[in-house]
Amino acid sequence: MSSAPLAGALAEEVWELLAARVGAGERRFVAIDRAVGRVLADDARAPSAFPPFDRAVMDGYAVRCEDFAAGRAVLRCDGLARAGAGLGLAVERGACLRINTGAPLPAGADAVVMVEHARELDSGAVELEGPPTPGQHIERHGSLLQPGALIAPAGTLIRAGAVAALAAAGLRAARVFAPPRVALISTGDELAPVDRDLAPGEIYDSNRIALTELSRAAGGEVMLSETAPDEPGPLRDRLSDGLRADLLCVVGGMSKGTHDLVPAALEALGVAWLVTSLRLKPGKPMRLGRAPCGAWVLGLPGNPVSCAVCFLLFARPILQGMQGLGARPPERLSGVLQCDVRPNAARPLFQPAQWNAGPHGESLLAPCPWRGSGDPFGLSNANALLYRPAHAPAAQRGERALFIPLDGLR
Ligand code: AMP
Ligand code: MG
Repeated sequence: MSSAPLAGALAEEVWELLAARVGAGERRFVAIDRAVGRVLADDARAPSAFPPFDRAVMDGYAVRCEDFAAGRAVLRCDGLARAGAGLGLAVERGACLRINTGAPLPAGADAVVMVEHARELDSGAVELEGPPTPGQHIERHGSLLQPGALIAPAGTLIRAGAVAALAAAGLRAARVFAPPRVALISTGDELAPVDRDLAPGEIYDSNRIALTELSRAAGGEVMLSETAPDEPGPLRDRLSDGLRADLLCVVGGMSKGTHDLVPAALEALGVAWLVTSLRLKPGKPMRLGRAPCGAWVLGLPGNPVSCAVCFLLFARPILQGMQGLGARPPERLSGVLQCDVRPNAARPLFQPAQWNAGPHGESLLAPCPWRGSGDPFGLSNANALLYRPAHAPAAQRGERALFIPLDGLR
């Protein structure tokens, strides 16, 4: 299917396109302790019951309820049942065993009396308040989870809580979506790596460092990260390498300068454009395309704020989609402006901003100083993008506005 690429696309149009076209990527089995941050590709079901044996859930005494005919009981204490031990122990009639939380319930016992309700007598016997109800402070084998029960459905983003549940159920490996492979190529003769002094006319390649972190936070694995000069031959070689990734992000050289060679170089490698420019600020010269091998290609503007904003708006949904989370648009939340903002011009605006929780849990939103998309420090204190629709009128402190949080996957 080939249709004319979108020029001057709105963010919503790009999101619609991504939602329709980005499919989930490769799946693989991983050991359970490597699964955090990944998305389950299959329903995770319990291989075995939990708890795996009847166990005490209080520190106290394992008893037989029948010994409490008179309400309370004085019982001989025959020893201790410890967590991780005590299998094969039994409580005889007229006796009890001291038991710790997590220990297997001794045979014959049918309740646990809390240690707070017990008094050790000089004789060595124990006086216990009662009568206990059968099953008191006992968790029965399989009462929390039966074999085959669903622990987490396919599509779950595995966080600490989910991985603990999978581990508790005895699942040693799970099938997850593989981290999408990302290639990052900065282009520009003026770019220097951060580990050496600058030569005259150079600046540091700060975008590639930002994109490395943003890729990782969005669940991607950076498989290639390089700088390419504004020269057709070497540029082509680097781009060709980058197309081995699932997502190639090329930075700079995307607009109309005499040495903006990237679009033509990518076209020569067979990349077909879906979007050739945006109608939003910052980030007008962004491009989105697909290579014949299936790799997604994002041509990002070199200006640092534009570069990061376009990645967050569009690369993050692509990476989410490849991980089985659906290539959903970034979520937009509502916050209360902490200062007045000017009317917006004709392009929708995504401005670096800070958001915090107010004393009543409301989101407080403050735009960061805005010195243009070329200001590499414009995002340094931002944890959100304030969204202003095209032609939005001035808004005052206390009014509500929409924003996109910048933290990881959701
Ligand atoms: P370009 O998109 O190549 O026209 O670059 C636009 C502006 O962004 C220029 O001032 C570049 O020097 C700057 N720039 C381009 N790439 C990077 C980068 N990787 N890191 C920091 N600044 C960059
Ligand atoms: Mg350039």
